[in-house]
Amino acid sequence: VSAHGRAFGTPPTHAATAPGRVNLIGDHTDYNGGLALPIALDAHAAVVLGPGAPGRLEVVAADLDERHEGAFEASDIRADSTPAWFRYAAGAVLLGAGELGRDPESVGLGITLASSVPVGSGLSSSAAIEVATLTAIESFFGRTFEPRTKAMLCQRTEHEFARTPSGLLDPLASIMGATDTGVLIRFDSLSCTPVPIPAGVRFAILDSGEGHSNADGRYARIRAACEGAARALGVAMLSESSLREFTKRADSLAPEQRGAAAHVLSENERVRGFVRALGEGRLEQAGQLMNESHRSMSEQLGVSTPGIDRLQAAAAGVAGVLGCRLTGGGFGGFLVAMLDAGTSEAALKQIRQTASDVLGHPASVRLIRPGAGARPIEW
Ligand code: ADP
Ligand code: MG
Repeated sequence: VSAHGRAFGTPPTHAATAPGRVNLIGDHTDYNGGLALPIALDAHAAVVLGPGAPGRLEVVAADLDERHEGAFEASDIRADSTPAWFRYAAGAVLLGAGELGRDPESVGLGITLASSVPVGSGLSSSAAIEVATLTAIESFFGRTFEPRTKAMLCQRTEHEFARTPSGLLDPLASIMGATDTGVLIRFDSLSCTPVPIPAGVRFAILDSGEGHSNADGRYARIRAACEGAARALGVAMLSESSLREFTKRADSLAPEQRGAAAHVLSENERVRGFVRALGEGRLEQAGQLMNESHRSMSEQLGVSTPGIDRLQAAAAGVAGVLGCRLTGGGFGGFLVAMLDAGTSEAALKQIRQTASDVLGHPASVRLIRPGAGARPIEW
Protein backbone atom coordinates (compact mmCIF):
# COMPACT_ATOMS: atom_id res chain seq x y z
CA VAL A 1 0.00 0.00 0.00
CA SER A 2 1.38 3.39 -1.04
CA ALA A 3 1.66 6.52 1.08
CA HIS A 4 -1.77 7.51 -0.19
CA GLY A 5 -3.42 4.33 0.99
CA ARG A 6 -3.84 2.76 -2.43
CA ALA A 7 -2.93 -0.75 -3.45
CA PHE A 8 0.52 -1.00 -4.99
CA GLY A 9 0.30 -0.72 -8.78
CA THR A 10 -2.81 1.46 -8.82
CA PRO A 11 -1.76 4.96 -9.84
CA PRO A 12 -3.26 7.58 -7.53
CA THR A 13 -3.60 9.92 -10.50
CA HIS A 14 -6.74 10.60 -12.50
CA ALA A 15 -6.93 12.03 -16.01
CA ALA A 16 -9.55 13.52 -18.28
CA THR A 17 -9.91 15.32 -21.58
CA ALA A 18 -12.39 17.97 -22.66
CA PRO A 19 -12.77 19.52 -26.12
CA GLY A 20 -12.91 23.12 -27.27
CA ARG A 21 -15.95 24.00 -29.34
CA VAL A 22 -17.00 25.68 -32.55
CA ASN A 23 -20.28 27.49 -32.42
CA LEU A 24 -22.05 26.90 -35.73
CA ILE A 25 -24.71 29.54 -35.05
CA GLY A 26 -26.15 31.44 -32.08
CA ASP A 27 -23.60 33.81 -30.55
CA HIS A 28 -24.23 36.26 -27.67
CA THR A 29 -27.47 34.34 -27.06
CA ASP A 30 -26.35 32.24 -24.09
CA TYR A 31 -26.45 34.94 -21.42
CA ASN A 32 -29.73 36.18 -22.97
CA GLY A 33 -31.67 32.95 -22.44
CA GLY A 34 -31.61 32.20 -26.18
CA LEU A 35 -30.46 29.39 -28.46
CA ALA A 36 -27.15 28.14 -29.88
CA LEU A 37 -25.88 25.19 -31.89
CA PRO A 38 -22.23 24.36 -31.14
CA ILE A 39 -20.17 21.29 -32.01
CA ALA A 40 -17.31 19.92 -29.91
CA LEU A 41 -13.97 20.51 -31.60
CA ASP A 42 -11.63 17.62 -32.37
CA ALA A 43 -8.98 19.36 -30.24
CA HIS A 44 -8.83 18.93 -26.46
CA ALA A 45 -7.42 19.99 -23.14
CA ALA A 46 -6.00 17.11 -21.10
CA VAL A 47 -5.62 17.21 -17.31
CA VAL A 48 -3.80 14.77 -15.02
CA LEU A 49 -4.51 15.21 -11.31
CA GLY A 50 -3.30 13.44 -8.20
CA PRO A 51 -2.37 13.95 -4.55
CA GLY A 52 0.41 16.48 -3.97
CA ALA A 53 2.04 18.20 -1.02
CA PRO A 54 -0.48 18.45 1.86
CA GLY A 55 -2.17 21.84 1.94
CA ARG A 56 -0.81 22.86 -1.46
CA LEU A 57 -2.39 23.15 -4.88
CA GLU A 58 0.16 22.95 -7.68
CA VAL A 59 -0.60 23.43 -11.38
CA VAL A 60 1.84 22.76 -14.21
CA ALA A 61 1.01 24.28 -17.61
CA ALA A 62 2.99 21.80 -19.71
CA ASP A 63 2.64 23.74 -22.99
CA LEU A 64 4.17 26.81 -21.38
CA ASP A 65 6.69 24.91 -19.26
CA GLU A 66 5.45 26.90 -16.26
CA ARG A 67 4.22 25.95 -12.80
CA HIS A 68 2.44 27.78 -10.01
CA GLU A 69 1.65 26.70 -6.49
CA GLY A 70 -0.58 28.09 -3.77
CA ALA A 71 -2.86 27.36 -0.84
CA PHE A 72 -6.46 26.12 -1.07
CA GLU A 73 -7.69 29.68 -0.61
CA ALA A 74 -10.11 31.41 -3.00
CA SER A 75 -8.56 34.82 -2.31
CA ASP A 76 -5.06 33.51 -3.14
CA ILE A 77 -6.23 31.77 -6.31
CA ARG A 78 -7.97 34.85 -7.68
CA ALA A 79 -5.12 37.23 -6.78
CA ASP A 80 -3.91 39.40 -9.68
CA SER A 81 -0.45 37.90 -9.36
CA THR A 82 -1.55 34.35 -10.26
CA PRO A 83 -1.40 33.25 -13.92
CA ALA A 84 -4.81 32.95 -15.64
CA TRP A 85 -4.36 29.22 -16.37
CA PHE A 86 -3.79 28.61 -12.65
CA ARG A 87 -7.04 30.40 -11.83
CA TYR A 88 -9.00 28.28 -14.34
CA ALA A 89 -7.69 24.95 -13.02
CA ALA A 90 -7.41 25.79 -9.31
CA GLY A 91 -10.73 27.68 -9.28
CA ALA A 92 -12.50 24.68 -10.86
CA VAL A 93 -10.90 22.36 -8.27
CA LEU A 94 -11.99 24.52 -5.34
CA LEU A 95 -15.57 24.92 -6.58
CA GLY A 96 -15.84 21.28 -7.72
CA ALA A 97 -14.58 19.83 -4.44
CA GLY A 98 -16.89 22.21 -2.53
CA GLU A 99 -19.90 21.08 -4.62
CA LEU A 100 -19.11 17.45 -3.76
CA GLY A 101 -18.65 18.34 -0.08
CA ARG A 102 -15.02 17.18 -0.14
CA ASP A 103 -11.88 18.90 1.04
CA PRO A 104 -8.70 17.75 -0.72
CA GLU A 105 -6.54 20.15 1.34
CA SER A 106 -5.11 17.47 3.63
CA VAL A 107 -3.74 15.42 0.71
CA GLY A 108 -2.96 18.42 -1.48
CA LEU A 109 -3.34 18.27 -5.25
CA GLY A 110 -0.99 18.37 -8.21
CA ILE A 111 -2.41 19.10 -11.65
CA THR A 112 -0.73 19.00 -15.04
CA LEU A 113 -2.57 20.48 -18.00
CA ALA A 114 -1.91 20.63 -21.72
CA SER A 115 -4.15 21.53 -24.64
CA SER A 116 -4.37 21.46 -28.43
CA VAL A 117 -7.22 24.01 -28.47
CA PRO A 118 -6.03 27.30 -30.02
CA VAL A 119 -5.76 29.82 -27.16
CA GLY A 120 -7.83 32.98 -26.97
CA SER A 121 -9.44 32.52 -30.40
CA GLY A 122 -13.11 31.97 -29.64
CA LEU A 123 -12.74 28.17 -29.67
CA SER A 124 -13.08 28.00 -25.90
CA SER A 125 -9.66 26.92 -24.68
CA SER A 126 -10.53 28.20 -21.19
CA ALA A 127 -13.69 26.09 -20.78
CA ALA A 128 -11.79 23.05 -22.11
CA ILE A 129 -9.37 23.41 -19.17
CA GLU A 130 -12.15 23.90 -16.63
CA VAL A 131 -14.25 20.99 -17.92
CA ALA A 132 -11.23 18.66 -18.12
CA THR A 133 -10.27 19.63 -14.55
CA LEU A 134 -13.78 18.99 -13.23
CA THR A 135 -13.94 15.68 -15.10
CA ALA A 136 -10.67 14.62 -13.45
CA ILE A 137 -12.08 15.77 -10.09
CA GLU A 138 -15.15 13.57 -10.66
CA SER A 139 -12.85 10.62 -11.21
CA PHE A 140 -10.65 11.54 -8.21
CA PHE A 141 -13.59 11.63 -5.81
CA GLY A 142 -15.54 8.84 -7.55
CA ARG A 143 -18.64 11.03 -7.92
CA THR A 144 -20.12 12.78 -10.94
CA PHE A 145 -21.73 16.16 -11.39
CA GLU A 146 -25.02 16.61 -13.16
CA PRO A 147 -23.99 18.17 -16.55
CA ARG A 148 -25.74 21.48 -15.92
CA THR A 149 -24.20 21.75 -12.46
CA LYS A 150 -20.80 21.05 -14.00
CA ALA A 151 -21.30 23.77 -16.63
CA MET A 152 -22.34 26.23 -13.93
CA LEU A 153 -19.21 25.42 -11.91
CA CYS A 154 -17.17 26.32 -15.03
CA GLN A 155 -19.06 29.56 -15.42
CA ARG A 156 -18.52 30.41 -11.75
CA THR A 157 -14.81 29.68 -12.22
CA GLU A 158 -14.70 32.24 -15.04
CA HIS A 159 -16.75 34.81 -13.11
CA GLU A 160 -15.23 34.42 -9.66
CA PHE A 161 -11.62 33.52 -10.45
CA ALA A 162 -10.86 34.83 -13.96
CA ARG A 163 -13.31 37.77 -13.79
CA THR A 164 -14.58 36.92 -17.29
CA PRO A 165 -18.36 37.42 -17.57
CA SER A 166 -18.83 34.42 -19.88
CA GLY A 167 -22.03 32.45 -20.44
CA LEU A 168 -22.78 28.73 -20.40
CA LEU A 169 -22.29 27.97 -24.10
CA ASP A 170 -18.63 26.95 -23.86
CA PRO A 171 -18.79 24.47 -20.96
CA LEU A 172 -22.11 22.93 -22.09
CA ALA A 173 -20.72 22.34 -25.60
CA SER A 174 -17.55 20.79 -24.17
CA ILE A 175 -19.53 18.54 -21.81
CA MET A 176 -22.39 17.54 -24.13
CA GLY A 177 -20.64 17.37 -27.54
CA ALA A 178 -20.66 14.08 -29.46
CA THR A 179 -19.10 12.77 -32.66
CA ASP A 180 -20.79 14.06 -35.84
CA THR A 181 -23.44 15.74 -33.70
CA GLY A 182 -24.35 19.33 -32.90
CA VAL A 183 -25.82 20.32 -29.53
CA LEU A 184 -28.90 22.53 -29.63
CA ILE A 185 -28.81 24.43 -26.34
CA ARG A 186 -31.83 26.28 -24.97
CA PHE A 187 -30.39 28.65 -22.42
CA ASP A 188 -33.69 29.37 -20.66
CA SER A 189 -33.95 25.77 -19.42
CA LEU A 190 -30.34 24.67 -20.19
CA SER A 191 -31.77 21.72 -22.10
CA CYS A 192 -29.42 20.17 -24.66
CA THR A 193 -30.72 18.27 -27.70
CA PRO A 194 -28.44 16.33 -30.04
CA VAL A 195 -28.70 17.45 -33.68
CA PRO A 196 -27.24 14.96 -36.19
CA ILE A 197 -24.93 16.65 -38.70
CA PRO A 198 -25.93 15.56 -42.21
CA ALA A 199 -23.39 13.53 -44.19
CA GLY A 200 -23.61 16.15 -46.95
CA VAL A 201 -21.68 18.84 -45.07
CA ARG A 202 -18.17 19.38 -43.74
CA PHE A 203 -16.86 22.18 -41.54
CA ALA A 204 -13.66 24.18 -41.78
CA ILE A 205 -12.19 26.71 -39.38
CA LEU A 206 -10.19 29.71 -40.56
CA ASP A 207 -7.92 31.72 -38.27
CA SER A 208 -8.39 35.47 -38.73
CA GLY A 209 -5.07 36.04 -36.98
CA GLU A 210 -6.74 38.76 -34.90
CA GLY A 211 -6.58 38.12 -31.15
CA HIS A 212 -9.59 38.47 -28.89
CA SER A 213 -9.99 38.81 -25.18
CA ASN A 214 -13.28 38.43 -23.36
CA ALA A 215 -11.91 40.04 -20.27
CA ASP A 216 -11.09 43.37 -21.86
CA GLY A 217 -14.43 45.05 -21.27
CA ARG A 218 -16.04 45.06 -24.70
CA TYR A 219 -17.81 41.77 -24.05
CA ALA A 220 -19.02 43.11 -20.69
CA ARG A 221 -20.29 46.25 -22.42
CA ILE A 222 -22.37 44.22 -24.87
CA ARG A 223 -23.77 42.19 -21.98
CA ALA A 224 -24.77 45.43 -20.29
CA ALA A 225 -26.49 46.66 -23.51
CA CYS A 226 -28.44 43.36 -23.66
CA GLU A 227 -29.51 43.72 -20.03
CA GLY A 228 -30.56 47.32 -20.65
CA ALA A 229 -32.56 46.26 -23.71
CA ALA A 230 -34.29 43.51 -21.72
CA ARG A 231 -35.29 46.03 -19.03
CA ALA A 232 -36.60 48.46 -21.65
CA LEU A 233 -38.66 45.65 -23.22
CA GLY A 234 -40.01 44.63 -19.80
CA VAL A 235 -38.49 41.14 -19.65
CA ALA A 236 -35.92 39.52 -17.38
CA MET A 237 -33.96 37.96 -20.28
CA LEU A 238 -33.83 39.48 -23.75
CA SER A 239 -34.89 36.22 -25.43
CA GLU A 240 -38.24 36.32 -23.59
CA SER A 241 -39.15 39.20 -25.88
CA SER A 242 -39.82 38.82 -29.62
CA LEU A 243 -38.77 40.57 -32.83
CA ARG A 244 -42.34 41.86 -33.15
CA GLU A 245 -42.36 43.36 -29.64
CA PHE A 246 -38.91 44.83 -30.24
CA THR A 247 -39.98 46.44 -33.54
CA LYS A 248 -42.91 48.12 -31.77
CA ARG A 249 -40.75 49.53 -29.00
CA ALA A 250 -37.37 50.02 -30.71
CA ASP A 251 -37.54 53.82 -30.30
CA SER A 252 -37.47 53.51 -26.51
CA LEU A 253 -34.06 51.78 -26.64
CA ALA A 254 -30.65 53.45 -26.68
CA PRO A 255 -28.73 52.81 -29.95
CA GLU A 256 -26.40 50.20 -28.43
CA GLN A 257 -29.36 48.42 -26.83
CA ARG A 258 -31.24 48.47 -30.15
CA GLY A 259 -28.35 46.73 -31.94
CA ALA A 260 -28.01 44.16 -29.17
CA ALA A 261 -31.73 43.34 -29.18
CA ALA A 262 -31.90 43.22 -32.98
CA HIS A 263 -29.03 40.74 -33.04
CA VAL A 264 -30.09 38.47 -30.19
CA LEU A 265 -33.76 38.20 -31.17
CA SER A 266 -32.99 37.57 -34.86
CA GLU A 267 -30.15 35.19 -33.97
CA ASN A 268 -32.53 32.97 -31.99
CA GLU A 269 -34.75 32.76 -35.09
CA ARG A 270 -31.74 31.88 -37.22
CA VAL A 271 -30.74 29.04 -34.88
CA ARG A 272 -34.27 27.59 -35.14
CA GLY A 273 -34.19 27.98 -38.92
CA PHE A 274 -30.72 26.45 -39.17
CA VAL A 275 -31.70 23.33 -37.20
CA ARG A 276 -34.87 22.91 -39.32
CA ALA A 277 -32.96 23.42 -42.58
CA LEU A 278 -30.25 20.90 -41.59
CA GLY A 279 -32.88 18.35 -40.59
CA GLU A 280 -34.74 18.74 -43.87
CA GLY A 281 -31.58 18.70 -46.01
CA ARG A 282 -31.96 22.32 -47.15
CA LEU A 283 -28.24 22.90 -46.85
CA GLU A 284 -28.01 26.03 -49.04
CA GLN A 285 -30.57 27.70 -46.81
CA ALA A 286 -28.71 26.66 -43.66
CA GLY A 287 -25.56 28.21 -45.15
CA GLN A 288 -27.41 31.45 -45.92
CA LEU A 289 -28.43 31.67 -42.26
CA MET A 290 -24.77 31.44 -41.25
CA ASN A 291 -23.95 34.33 -43.60
CA GLU A 292 -26.85 36.34 -42.18
CA SER A 293 -25.68 35.58 -38.66
CA HIS A 294 -22.27 36.99 -39.55
CA ARG A 295 -23.83 40.15 -40.95
CA SER A 296 -25.83 40.60 -37.75
CA MET A 297 -22.73 40.07 -35.56
CA SER A 298 -20.95 42.72 -37.64
CA GLU A 299 -23.67 45.30 -38.28
CA GLN A 300 -25.99 45.02 -35.28
CA LEU A 301 -23.66 43.90 -32.53
CA GLY A 302 -20.39 45.37 -33.79
CA VAL A 303 -18.22 42.42 -32.72
CA SER A 304 -16.55 41.83 -36.11
CA THR A 305 -13.66 43.79 -37.62
CA PRO A 306 -13.10 45.09 -41.19
CA GLY A 307 -10.46 42.37 -41.72
CA ILE A 308 -12.77 39.59 -40.55
CA ASP A 309 -15.62 40.93 -42.71
CA ARG A 310 -13.31 40.74 -45.74
CA LEU A 311 -12.31 37.16 -44.87
CA GLN A 312 -15.96 36.16 -44.41
CA ALA A 313 -16.95 37.65 -47.76
CA ALA A 314 -14.01 35.97 -49.52
CA ALA A 315 -14.72 32.55 -47.98
CA ALA A 316 -18.50 32.77 -48.46
CA GLY A 317 -17.93 33.48 -52.17
CA VAL A 318 -15.96 30.27 -52.80
CA ALA A 319 -17.78 27.57 -54.82
CA GLY A 320 -18.86 24.76 -52.50
CA VAL A 321 -18.99 27.01 -49.41
CA LEU A 322 -22.56 26.94 -48.12
CA GLY A 323 -22.03 29.60 -45.45
CA CYS A 324 -19.40 31.25 -43.29
CA ARG A 325 -19.40 33.29 -40.09
CA LEU A 326 -17.31 34.57 -37.25
CA THR A 327 -17.63 32.08 -34.37
CA GLY A 328 -17.56 32.84 -30.64
CA GLY A 329 -17.74 36.11 -28.79
CA GLY A 330 -16.04 38.08 -31.54
CA PHE A 331 -13.50 40.93 -31.79
CA GLY A 332 -11.16 38.45 -33.48
CA GLY A 333 -10.60 34.73 -33.49
CA PHE A 334 -11.82 32.09 -35.93
CA LEU A 335 -14.42 31.87 -38.68
CA VAL A 336 -16.35 28.66 -39.33
CA ALA A 337 -17.38 27.65 -42.84
CA MET A 338 -19.88 24.96 -43.81
CA LEU A 339 -18.85 23.15 -47.00
CA ASP A 340 -20.63 20.90 -49.43
CA ALA A 341 -19.11 17.48 -48.63
CA GLY A 342 -18.92 16.57 -52.33
CA THR A 343 -16.44 19.35 -53.12
CA SER A 344 -14.98 20.06 -49.68
CA GLU A 345 -11.31 19.41 -50.58
CA ALA A 346 -11.43 21.75 -53.59
CA ALA A 347 -13.34 24.37 -51.57
CA LEU A 348 -10.81 24.13 -48.75
CA LYS A 349 -7.94 24.81 -51.17
CA GLN A 350 -9.78 27.75 -52.68
CA ILE A 351 -10.60 29.23 -49.23
CA ARG A 352 -6.93 28.94 -48.33
CA GLN A 353 -5.99 30.76 -51.53
CA THR A 354 -8.49 33.62 -51.25
CA ALA A 355 -7.97 34.01 -47.49
CA SER A 356 -4.20 34.18 -48.00
CA ASP A 357 -4.74 36.93 -50.59
CA VAL A 358 -6.92 38.87 -48.12
CA LEU A 359 -4.50 38.38 -45.21
CA GLY A 360 -1.29 38.94 -47.17
CA HIS A 361 0.24 35.82 -45.60
CA PRO A 362 -0.53 32.08 -45.70
CA ALA A 363 -3.94 31.49 -44.10
CA SER A 364 -4.46 28.77 -41.50
CA VAL A 365 -7.54 26.77 -42.56
CA ARG A 366 -8.42 23.22 -41.67
CA LEU A 367 -11.28 20.77 -41.88
CA ILE A 368 -12.72 19.76 -38.52
CA ARG A 369 -15.12 17.07 -37.46
CA PRO A 370 -17.62 17.34 -34.60
CA GLY A 371 -15.81 15.37 -31.89
CA ALA A 372 -16.59 13.67 -28.60
CA GLY A 373 -17.42 15.53 -25.39
CA ALA A 374 -15.45 15.51 -22.12
CA ARG A 375 -14.52 12.11 -20.68
CA PRO A 376 -12.22 10.54 -18.12
CA ILE A 377 -9.14 8.76 -19.46
CA GLU A 378 -9.06 5.23 -18.11
CA TRP A 379 -5.62 3.78 -17.36
P1 ADP B 1 -10.84 31.19 -25.36
O1 ADP B 1 -11.53 30.46 -24.25
O2 ADP B 1 -11.77 31.70 -26.41
O3 ADP B 1 -9.72 30.41 -25.96
P2 ADP B 1 -10.16 32.91 -23.18
O4 ADP B 1 -9.60 34.29 -23.15
O5 ADP B 1 -11.46 32.67 -22.53
O6 ADP B 1 -10.19 32.48 -24.73
O7 ADP B 1 -9.13 31.88 -22.53
C1 ADP B 1 -7.78 31.86 -22.89
C2 ADP B 1 -6.93 31.64 -21.66
O8 ADP B 1 -7.02 30.25 -21.27
C3 ADP B 1 -5.45 31.87 -21.87
O9 ADP B 1 -5.12 33.22 -21.66
C4 ADP B 1 -4.83 30.98 -20.79
O10 ADP B 1 -4.86 31.60 -19.54
C5 ADP B 1 -5.78 29.81 -20.74
N1 ADP B 1 -5.26 28.70 -21.57
C6 ADP B 1 -5.87 28.14 -22.63
N2 ADP B 1 -5.15 27.10 -23.12
C7 ADP B 1 -4.04 27.01 -22.35
C8 ADP B 1 -2.88 26.15 -22.34
N3 ADP B 1 -2.73 25.18 -23.24
N4 ADP B 1 -1.95 26.34 -21.37
C9 ADP B 1 -2.11 27.32 -20.46
N5 ADP B 1 -3.15 28.16 -20.42
C10 ADP B 1 -4.12 28.03 -21.35
MG1 MG C 1 -12.89 31.25 -22.86
